[in-house]
Amino acid sequence: MPELPEVETVRTVLSPFVVGQTIAKVTINLPKVVANLQPATFVQKMTEQNIINFTRRGKFLTLHLQSGAFVVLHLRMTGTLTVEDADVPIEKHTNLILTFQNGKELRFVDSRGFGRWWYFAPGQTDTSGQNLLGPEPSAVTIKDLQRKIATRKTALKTLLLDQHLIAGIGNIYADEICFRAGVRPTRPGNSLTSAELKRLCTEISAVINEFIQFHHVPFAVYAQSKGTSYQNDTNLRVYGRAGQPCLKCGRPLIGTRIGQRSSVYCEYCQR
Ligand SMILES: [Zn+2]
Repeated sequence: MPELPEVETVRTVLSPFVVGQTIAKVTINLPKVVANLQPATFVQKMTEQNIINFTRRGKFLTLHLQSGAFVVLHLRMTGTLTVEDADVPIEKHTNLILTFQNGKELRFVDSRGFGRWWYFAPGQTDTSGQNLLGPEPSAVTIKDLQRKIATRKTALKTLLLDQHLIAGIGNIYADEICFRAGVRPTRPGNSLTSAELKRLCTEISAVINEFIQFHHVPFAVYAQSKGTSYQNDTNLRVYGRAGQPCLKCGRPLIGTRIGQRSSVYCEYCQR
């Protein structure tokens, strides 16, 4: 499931192929992919629009159009975006296609079909949910954590996953952040000391930024993997490694469930 670093990869890799392009044609193969309009209306509003910017907020992406309208999209569980020549055969589960005047296509492939696109006219209120997001991980301050984590009895892991508290952190990086900060993901937020909150604050930003760097791939690599090459987990220290030796102390990592989500941590290195 793409988290902030993966969504940022999609944005940086595809931006040069998307920004500046004019949409010649819109194809919708799964009507519910457009969350807030009838597919025919979405097609009509988007056709002949020029894309002037491609931005990210949390796990949401936004295509900004020259008219002042904007299109928000969320990849959810399995959504991927690729840019292909129009004559390349269409993959199964290609739910939406923007065909550009230059003959290239931005294709949205999503096998589970949970990914969504929203169209907003100039000045229209964004109801996609991105307005409700907490700060970006790189902008989180110790004050935010004192207010949003240190006051709560909820498990730290659950708090880190709450997009209203901090934007963009999912199951993978929540475990990595807790490991790096030396704090167990099961700890109630209000049990963290000020030194632990400080380490957490540093690692929230550092871990996310590191993975943005790790995932940065050339377009050719990205395209060959159909937009999934960034899902490279060789740099993960705890996620998916339950039972395997901790990379710091060598003791077996503990696998558990916190609020329905699988979690991995080291009992010795994390207190
Ligand atoms: Zn350890």
